[in-house]
Amino acid sequence: MTRRRLALATILLALGLLAGCSQQEPYSETLLAFGTLVDVTIYTDSPEAAQAAIRAVDEDLRFMHENWNAWRPNTLGRVNLLLPTGEWFSSGPSLLPLIEQSIALSEQSEGLFDPAIGKLVGLWGFQSDSAPEGPPPDEGQIELLLEQAPRMTDIQIDGIRIRSTNPAVRLDFGAFAKGYAVDRVIERLRELGIQDAIVNAGGDLRAIGRHGNRDWRVGIRHPGGDGVIASLQIAGDESVFTSGDYERYFDWEGERYHHIIDPRNGRPAQGVTSVTVLHDNGAEADAAATALFVAGPDDWPRIAARMGIDKVMVIDADGGIALTPAMAGRIRLEGDEPAPFTLRELP
Ligand code: AMP
Ligand code: MG
Repeated sequence: MTRRRLALATILLALGLLAGCSQQEPYSETLLAFGTLVDVTIYTDSPEAAQAAIRAVDEDLRFMHENWNAWRPNTLGRVNLLLPTGEWFSSGPSLLPLIEQSIALSEQSEGLFDPAIGKLVGLWGFQSDSAPEGPPPDEGQIELLLEQAPRMTDIQIDGIRIRSTNPAVRLDFGAFAKGYAVDRVIERLRELGIQDAIVNAGGDLRAIGRHGNRDWRVGIRHPGGDGVIASLQIAGDESVFTSGDYERYFDWEGERYHHIIDPRNGRPAQGVTSVTVLHDNGAEADAAATALFVAGPDDWPRIAARMGIDKVMVIDADGGIALTPAMAGRIRLEGDEPAPFTLRELP
C-alpha cells in the first residue's frame, strides 16, 4: 500500500468509527388526536429521519382521528348510518381490521368490552369529547337498549363487506381506537427505520427500544390526584393502558356517573376506580383495561386470563390495590410509604 493509500484508509477508518459512535438524540413532538395530546419521542442519530417520522405520524393520527370518531360525519359515521339497514355494504378499508379485532376481543372478554354499545354510550352523553352534565338517562330507554342487546357478534363480515343482524348496533371505538392507533404509529415508525421511541397518548402508551442508554421509565397517574401512584421500566416493546372512572364523568344529585358502561346493565360499571394493563401491544391492552374495569373487583382475574393478559393493577372503589404476580414483579409503587397491595393469581 502506498503512503497516500494508507493515509486515505486511515481517514476512512476514523470516519467510520465516528459514525459508529454517533450520538443518539431525542426528538419530541406533541400532536393532538383522539381528544388528547399525543407525545411522540424518538431516539435517533438522524434529525432528518426524526422529522420525516414525526410528519408521517402526524398525518396518520389526523387520518385516524378524522375517520374513527363515532359521532362525526366520517367513515365510521357512514358505517353507523348503514348498519341499522341490515344490508351488506363496504365498510371502508381502514375500518375493517378495527372491526375484526374488536369482534375477537369482545368475544374473549365475554362482551364486557363491546364497541357495539354506542347507543348506550350516547344515551349517557359520553359521545362528545367534553363530559356531559347529566341528568342520567331515563330507565325505560336503558331497558329498551338492554332488550335489543347490540353486540359485536351481531356483525357479519364477508370480504370487504359487512352487515349487522341487529339494528341497535352502533359502533363506538372509544375504548379501543387509541390503543389500535398507537400500534399503527409504532408500526409506521419501524417502517421508517426508527427503533427507539415512545408514543404517549395522555398516559396510555407504547414504547419500543430504549431511552438513549437506559430503559424507558413510565409513571402511572394516581386516580385520586395529580401525583404518580406507580412507575414501570420498559425496554423492548410494551404498552401501558389505564381505564379510570376519573377520566370522564358527571355528578348528579350526589351520585357520580362515569363513562365506562357495563353492557350487562347499561350503567356505569361499579366497584373499580382504575385498571392498568401492561401488555405487548396497545390494542389489546386498551380493550382489556376497559373489559377488566367492567368485570369488577372479583371477576377481573378470570377475564384477564381469558384475554391472555397477565400484568394488571386494579385499584378498587375503596382505594385497595391488587396486582397480578407478573405485574408485581414489574411495577414499583411510589410514595414515601408505598401503599400496601394484595396479590391476585390468575385462574
Ligand atoms: P376506556 O377509557 O378505554 O376504558 O374507554 C372508555 C370509552 O369507551 C367510553 O368513553 C365509551 O366511549 C366507550 N365505552 C364505554 N363502555 C364500554 C364498554 N363496556 N365496551 C366498549 N366501549 C365502551
Ligand atoms: Mg380501553
